[in-house]
Amino acid sequence: MTFYCVQCKAEREVETFEEFRTKHNLRMAKATCPVCGFPLYRKLDTQPEQEKKA
Ligand SMILES: [Zn+2]
Repeated sequence: MTFYCVQCKAEREVETFEEFRTKHNLRMAKATCPVCGFPLYRKLDTQPEQEKKA
């Protein structure tokens, strides 16, 4: 997946990333820049879910 590194000011292709949810229930991905080691965050596309917890 492609992340934008604010440190390098360039896009980085990262294969290993961790998916998590914010407290606002947004799907995010976290990775590390392979060049500078800066943490990269990216918002994932929200997909419609069949089950929703009230
Ligand atoms: Zn970087």
